[in-house]
Amino acid sequence: MDTLPIFLKVRGTPCLVVGGGQVAARKVDLLLRAGAQLTVVAPELDDTLRTHWASGALEWIQGRFDPAQLEQALIVVAATNDPDVNNAVSQAAQQKQIPVNVVDQPHLCTFTVPSIVDRSPIMIAIGTGGTSPVLARLLRARLETLIPAAYGRLASLAGQFRSQVKTALGGTDTRRAFWEEVFQGRVAELIFAGKERQARKELDRMIETSTDSHYRRGEVYLVGAGPGDPDLLTFRALRLMQRADVVLYDRLVAPAIVDLVRRDAQRIFVGKEKSHHVVPQRDINRLLLELARQGNRVLRLKGGDPFIFGRGGEEIEDLVSHDIPFQVIPGITAAAGCASYAGIPLTHRDHAQACLFVTGHLKDGSVDLNWESLCQPEQTVVVYMGLTGLEIICREMINHGLTPETPAALIQQGTTVNQKVISGTLGTLAGKVAQVKVQAPTLLIVGSVVRLHDQLAWFVPEALLEEKSVLNEPGRGTNDGL
Ligand code: SAH
Repeated sequence: MDTLPIFLKVRGTPCLVVGGGQVAARKVDLLLRAGAQLTVVAPELDDTLRTHWASGALEWIQGRFDPAQLEQALIVVAATNDPDVNNAVSQAAQQKQIPVNVVDQPHLCTFTVPSIVDRSPIMIAIGTGGTSPVLARLLRARLETLIPAAYGRLASLAGQFRSQVKTALGGTDTRRAFWEEVFQGRVAELIFAGKERQARKELDRMIETSTDSHYRRGEVYLVGAGPGDPDLLTFRALRLMQRADVVLYDRLVAPAIVDLVRRDAQRIFVGKEKSHHVVPQRDINRLLLELARQGNRVLRLKGGDPFIFGRGGEEIEDLVSHDIPFQVIPGITAAAGCASYAGIPLTHRDHAQACLFVTGHLKDGSVDLNWESLCQPEQTVVVYMGLTGLEIICREMINHGLTPETPAALIQQGTTVNQKVISGTLGTLAGKVAQVKVQAPTLLIVGSVVRLHDQLAWFVPEALLEEKSVLNEPGRGTNDGL
């Protein structure tokens, strides 16, 4: 961070602008909107500035810049087309330690003026550290479309009720929950619909009926975080991630996704303990329950979809018996994510009319699956957790009737920048994988749809382009996901 963003009160305070042309006029306009007591130094004024001057909105010193004019100025802006003058203003201001901005000359500035989205009293300022004003403008345009104009009115209303709510509700957590309900519930909708009087009534009602205990009820959000690419989160997942007080996550959830959780939420990693063992499931279940009972909004963030090989069902069973409210938010499961990003349609009228999701997890060194059902024609089989047992799985599928030429692919870290697709056949895949450094998690897809990968692959991460060939990499063994 190279600069400190702050919002400066200039209302009724002397500020100086040097320059009388169009560029100066834009800065003058902004300063006047913020209520500055403004003096402009310039031999001549353009029409806009002259109108302001005539109406008494600003003082005009007709002449050239003199350091003495800086006396009492809180800030100064230089916007002339004379580099010497701009330079002189910058030097003089810095000597007197007065913040100075020289338009379009970052090296002469001690402050810059951000691009703004004005929803007064809400103000969003965007700065690019002088690197690209155009980018700042583009970002601003995006934010303008995202933030309803009525947010300003909503903030004003909240400001008017703030001390009343503080008196009515004692705890800070309770008050936060109260305001979240205001901003995401009926009051906000009423304001957006232009019904300010009704919104006030609703707020009065909420304050009257609210008690601390009403807002202290904990709940659990069991949220699917998808296979890795943060863009694949649902809107609802993101919304709940922003509301949570505590988050429990494991190693399948990408750091970039954990970063999107509310900044001050407590983060609990339940992937591995110090001893490198996974936290036992019953401890996770108990933790969820306890945190919710303490009144927290607990986010249980799971890779992919919580109900597909995610033990989501087990985690919420205890909540039901203790009457803790919960929501389950689906996520894009690894099969869907990896298949899409690898260009392998899981079903296709010419190839597969059915698709099976199975786990290839090893139990006592063998894979316990219903091989007959897996080896039917015209279907795709997706194997989660199948890397360690890859060789066994391929062999058993051949033993149970599929030809060794049946196409098969292993997808490493699908949907992320580390995605790699190793494709082959039931006969060749295990051997190919053994030669490559594979990083968990990986997913196995078996079936003739895998052939379409050559034609339909569209997602090629840059990291992969830099490698000449995946298979030329030195073999460094393998490790599986879960
Ligand atoms: N609930 C998760 C699955 C958890 S089981 C889901 O719906 O996706 C963990 C297994 O999921 C891993 O061993 C791996 O087989 C698979 N997996 C998860 N994310 C993956 C990814 N980005 N790429 C490849 N496989 C993935």
